[in-house]
Amino acid sequence: MWRVAARRLLRAGGTGNLRSASGAAAAELRRRLESQLEDIRGAGTWKSERVIASRQGPHLRLAGGGAGILNFCANNYLGLSSHPEVIRAAVEALEKFGAGLSSVRFICGTQSIHKDLEEKIARFHQREDAILYASCFDANAGIFEALLTPEDAVLSDELNHASIIDGIRLCKANKYRYKHMDMQDLEAKLQDAQKHRLRLVATDGAFSMDGDIAPLKEICQLAQKYDALVFIDECHATGFLGPNGRGTDELLGVMDKVTIINSTLGKALGGAAGGYTTGPKPLIDLLRQRSRPYLFSNSLPPAVVGCASKALDLLMESNAIAQSMAAKTQRFRSKMTAAGFTISGKDHPICPVMLGDARLASVMAEDMLNRGIYVIGFSYPVVPKGKARIRVQISAVHSDEDIDRCVEAFIEIGRKHGALP
Ligand code: PLP
Repeated sequence: MWRVAARRLLRAGGTGNLRSASGAAAAELRRRLESQLEDIRGAGTWKSERVIASRQGPHLRLAGGGAGILNFCANNYLGLSSHPEVIRAAVEALEKFGAGLSSVRFICGTQSIHKDLEEKIARFHQREDAILYASCFDANAGIFEALLTPEDAVLSDELNHASIIDGIRLCKANKYRYKHMDMQDLEAKLQDAQKHRLRLVATDGAFSMDGDIAPLKEICQLAQKYDALVFIDECHATGFLGPNGRGTDELLGVMDKVTIINSTLGKALGGAAGGYTTGPKPLIDLLRQRSRPYLFSNSLPPAVVGCASKALDLLMESNAIAQSMAAKTQRFRSKMTAAGFTISGKDHPICPVMLGDARLASVMAEDMLNRGIYVIGFSYPVVPKGKARIRVQISAVHSDEDIDRCVEAFIEIGRKHGALP
């Protein structure tokens, strides 16, 4: 019966019959939106999206052709996004626990797998407890407001991720922005912040535009000197930095000095979605009571929980995947440097090939794709003026041949456009 009704409705309205509001306000809105879109195009900052017709991985098929594209621009650092065991775990969780919870956690949205994953995350990072969010963007949006009051202070690296900046905007603490990784400036700001009750230094562990790693040892020393807490965003570190992939704090030997970690399940840890905070138990308990993106948003879907849980199992069993990614990174960085390119950062799988000129970055990235290698050029306002680059991201599942093909293409295209002699 309902099928007949639905067919009638479709015939009457039809999918081609798009509805849009009429009236002066709607017309004014449309005019304003079109003008803004034109401005974005005019400024050359329009972001277009390439449509992928295959799974995420080192080799892609693009919609409308383009098979066998070598992919060097995903955050799939460990290649777990399409790992067969990760996919199987997702399917099993989907079948056993359903498509989703249709609820926030505190009403009827907590399943045993959510509790298990939180326990696993805390164990992985050697922290007391953990709390899941729909994304790390949400984890960053939810923590500062819940934790800090107008009597407190937060000191943030000027190049921190947008979600940290937004999270800090939402809180009422006194805000200090220190120069990127500048310990003198951080110390000056910490001295000024002594008048506040509690101080929290917030930094990305690894910065995604430059592939540089925060000087956590020095930050923790200053935090100790000026009685501050340290928060790190480990989205570009969890799973692969440090001898066991625990992250920047493990790499730099300060696991016992960093108080709070936020990270994502949407990059190295299976790549599906989700984020978390891990740290002291009372903090996690407070976030469950007060953190708005946690309280007022749906629970993570079981399939997503299954992916992340399996990814963590794989990493806790062995550090072989993380080691393999480190070796591939080293191969790319050393070959590119030997060829005469400048690669920003150090030992990180984010390898920005520094070109300076925005047009050069854009045409070289386009030419790389014509050669079957997918990389992205970044220029102002995403990165500072005059510091345009092509960002290459290495994954454990790239083969040595993939890396060599990419380097050879860079050399050929770099010569063609005058980026190399
Ligand atoms: N923090 C950093 C440093 C990131 O790079 C990102 C993602 O781009 C996020 C937070 C947000 O993570 P998610 O994709 O889980 O929201």
